[in-house]
Amino acid sequence: MQTQKKHTPSFSVELFPPKTAEGMEKLRATWKELALLKPRFFSVTYGAGGSTQDRTLGTVLEIIADGHQAAPHLSCVGSSREEIAAILDQYRDTGIRHIVALRGDLPSGMASAGELRHANELVEFIRSRTGDHFQIDVAAYPEVHPQAKSPRDDLLNFKRKVDAGANSAITQYFYNADAYFRFIDDCEALGIDLPVVPGIMPIGNFSQLARFSDACGAEIPRWLRLKLQSYGDDLPSIRSFGLDVITDLCRRLLEQGAPGLHFYTMNQAGLTGTIWKRLGL
Ligand code: FAD
Repeated sequence: MQTQKKHTPSFSVELFPPKTAEGMEKLRATWKELALLKPRFFSVTYGAGGSTQDRTLGTVLEIIADGHQAAPHLSCVGSSREEIAAILDQYRDTGIRHIVALRGDLPSGMASAGELRHANELVEFIRSRTGDHFQIDVAAYPEVHPQAKSPRDDLLNFKRKVDAGANSAITQYFYNADAYFRFIDDCEALGIDLPVVPGIMPIGNFSQLARFSDACGAEIPRWLRLKLQSYGDDLPSIRSFGLDVITDLCRRLLEQGAPGLHFYTMNQAGLTGTIWKRLGL
């Protein structure tokens, strides 16, 4: 963890673009509440295949117009180089300076994987087309990406994104701090020297979390799963226990040198705000 300690800490929050006008109205209230925490930036997710292209951009531009830093996510799966180039031009022309660059997952029913097959190719493409205009964040997987051939292969693929010009990374969420510390040690051994910010998923609802975690390969440790299951439908107890667990996780990560935290807010300000305040950020 030696290299991580020298990076300026970054505390940020993630939102997704809602589908309806009502959802957007709620999201405005959410980001205004989160803005009081003074996050370094808001990031806004992007539906693979471009399904949220306009809503992602619209949300980012509104947040920026409201006086905050914001970064759109951009995924390359299912898109042509020409399509990605047009989005990059639009991002640049509207004054955006920061992108979270991802491969994405091909939506079921979409036949073509597109022209850029992996996130390292997207990072390369962004750099070749727009030079140093954008700060580029990429994804990292301390518990290994579910499609990776092996942990080593996944790590080398992560390095490809770094070598292609990424400035920093945000991890998939995890509940096992040791997986993160080990990942950072492995990165250091390969000379990877960029901030790797832990992604934090607050716990508000067990069944939703279990579904997500299965899909993205994040492990819910047995003790945590059993304890959460034991609360059944008692949401206040799940939230209260979840707040304790996640605050402890964040505290441990920061004490041992993590260069910040990135909160997956699920468009809810409450849990993230409480953890943030408990940590005294
Ligand atoms: P990659 O880095 O391309 O890796 C994907 C897999 O391919 C890995 O198994 C890797 O080992 C392997 N691989 C990588 N490069 C190569 C190569 N050159 N040759 C062979 N194999 C390779 N998804 C969305 O749709 N929209 C979002 O907004 C979004 N935001 C996210 C934000 C964060 C912080 C994270 C962690 C994930 C996000 N995701 C999002 C999910 C992400 O798109 C998926 O996890 C996806 O499966 C992988 O994306 P990636 O950018 O990590 O892909």
